[in-house]
Amino acid sequence: MFCPRCGSILIPKRSGKKSKLVCSCGYKTGKGEKVILKEKTVFTARDKIEVIDKKAEVLPRIKEECPKCNNGEAYYWTVQTRSGDEAETRFFKCTKCSHTWRVY
Ligand SMILES: [Zn+2]
Ligand SMILES: [Zn+2]
Repeated sequence: MFCPRCGSILIPKRSGKKSKLVCSCGYKTGKGEKVILKEKTVFTARDKIEVIDKKAEVLPRIKEECPKCNNGEAYYWTVQTRSGDEAETRFFKCTKCSHTWRVY
């Protein structure tokens, strides 16, 4: 954010609960920090959606034989069935025929 009056970089300054952007020339704006925070939130939300999409597409692969077509490679992921001492369940999905099975 630059000062519209003199072109210098505006400095965020707190006054009570509100934050203002101020310039050394005396220019002030009431919108300052709140607007910046809004932009940041939108960016984070978009970023999160992108990360989730990537995760769903790129599951880690492991050398595991498919019981259906004997293909030697499968995607895998783990799911915690119950909270506590229960071991997590491992899921496999064949990279060739998409057959899905699980191992306890
Ligand atoms: Zn200024
Ligand atoms: Zn298979």
